[in-house]
Amino acid sequence: MNAKKTKKEQVMDGLGVSPGIAIGPPHITEYGAPTVPEYAIDDGQIESEQARFQSAVRRSARQIRRLKNRAQTMHGEAGEELGYLLDAYQHMLTGSRLTQGVEHRIQTKLINAEAAVQAEISIIARGFADLPDSYMAARANDIREAGARLIRNLTKEPFRAFSMIAPGSVVFTDELSPADTALMDPQRVAGFATASGGAEGHTAIVARSLGIPAVVGVSGLLDNLESADLVIIDGGGGRVIIDPSTKTMTDYERRRTGFLRERQKFAGLRKMPAITRDDTHIDLSANVELPLEVKSALENGAQGIGLLRTEFMFMNRATAPNETEQYEILRDMVKGMSGKPVTIRTLDVGGEKQAHSLSEYLSTSENPALGLRGIRLSLKHLKLLETQLAATLRAGAHGPVRILLPMISNVGEVRQVRDCLKSVARRLKRRKVKIADPLPPLGVMIEVPGAALAADALATVSDFFAIGTNDLTMYTLAIDRADEQVAHLFNPLHPAILRLIQFTTQAALRARIPVSVCGEMAGDPRYAALLLGLGVRDLSMTALNLPQVKQRIRNIDLTSATMRAQIIMEQIDSGRIATLLDDFNTLA
Ligand code: PEP
Ligand code: MG
Repeated sequence: MNAKKTKKEQVMDGLGVSPGIAIGPPHITEYGAPTVPEYAIDDGQIESEQARFQSAVRRSARQIRRLKNRAQTMHGEAGEELGYLLDAYQHMLTGSRLTQGVEHRIQTKLINAEAAVQAEISIIARGFADLPDSYMAARANDIREAGARLIRNLTKEPFRAFSMIAPGSVVFTDELSPADTALMDPQRVAGFATASGGAEGHTAIVARSLGIPAVVGVSGLLDNLESADLVIIDGGGGRVIIDPSTKTMTDYERRRTGFLRERQKFAGLRKMPAITRDDTHIDLSANVELPLEVKSALENGAQGIGLLRTEFMFMNRATAPNETEQYEILRDMVKGMSGKPVTIRTLDVGGEKQAHSLSEYLSTSENPALGLRGIRLSLKHLKLLETQLAATLRAGAHGPVRILLPMISNVGEVRQVRDCLKSVARRLKRRKVKIADPLPPLGVMIEVPGAALAADALATVSDFFAIGTNDLTMYTLAIDRADEQVAHLFNPLHPAILRLIQFTTQAALRARIPVSVCGEMAGDPRYAALLLGLGVRDLSMTALNLPQVKQRIRNIDLTSATMRAQIIMEQIDSGRIATLLDDFNTLA
């Protein structure tokens, strides 16, 4: 008998965050057994090691809380059983024998937190495994699982080696960090689905830039997968299909061909200019997360790199790269762009963007998105900033570069960086090192609401603005961009966001400094007319979206778009704004 025929197709919905259709066998990964570093510490390190442990406990507790919320939405016994299990994990993490035992062990044995967790876990788990009651004995595995999660959160190591999976597989997992995603090879990973995550989170952004179809925030994703043979990911429609019927399969194979053909058709636009119907030129650049994307930026007709996120240099490695390493990576990218401008952003780790090599610098606060993130981290640890600026200045000897600062909230921060830039440049010149001459323009991301409201002031100390609508929306509307539970509220068409974009753009125009939009909003053709109507002439986005946005721009009449933007700005309700925009898009 053919087993496949007896399987029933299952359909699950989530957030479609990276378009495309993937069809292949599932590769399921959960929190598995981690590698545990072991080393001795000295008396002076006890407190910081215990603090590191506490922060991992908080992070684990947060993850478990989120899993519990999802368990509540599951029906029947499975949800109930999972709920009990997660309650038990939560209990283990709060003031229990495990946490006290680990803290005590760090202090008395003078060992690192990971080793202390490992030792404590094996003692407790062994105690359970020896119990005569089979139910209690089985709890030993739960304890090991809780310990594994703690260790993962301590090491912040990428926990999946996607290089080992069968080519063409579709990855299914509970959560995926941006660092994990950056390790995915699009030749090997056909697509992925996760139980958590939001559309503007960095995991989704990296998926889009790699062109890997992805669906995130799928509730109950890992519950019924064990015996699945074949799965489909519809990254545009936000759908996951397990063991598709023959009819579904044929339908999605057709859609996949259509999607690839459409992409090819757009590629024809590569050499066409990005001009509106009334002949206004719009600057279209690429956002780049990884060096391999330089090629795709050029292939898709980018006029430059409008946002080079440098975080990748610090991810998936044990130690931070030194000046020479950073210089060499940046130099190759600048050279690769053959004279087109490259906007290099200084480090923006913290919050959801974690980088293992910087764990000693990263904030352990309860509220990392409001903590030591972006420029705040660089200014606290000036060495990090000096090294990045030196590498950038040196790369600037090989082609035009601009320097962009993330998470700026006041003019003092920009002044501090400018002073630092000048002193780094002096030092390099003294050493007769070749650097950009004149010094590169220094611009700021407008992504904190206060920065947008103080745009006039910031314009007096900045050479250009780049509006980051992802964080601007997150911080203005108080919505975590990576949390699927509030993803439906994440809306850049909220009047507050549009006003901040307009306010910033006008401040830049008054100060005669360039302004671009480089958040995910810029890469969606739906928003192009509105952004242009608000005065924006410079957009930076995931390279693969450039042709679609260009096509939209070539159909826009700027005078009509400006008039439509004026009407939109008088509205109080984002639903009405969406209708007015969609109507305009279908007409023009
Ligand atoms: C933004 O916040 O809109 C942005 C472009 O920066 P990132 O997505 O890297 O935070
Ligand atoms: Mg940002």
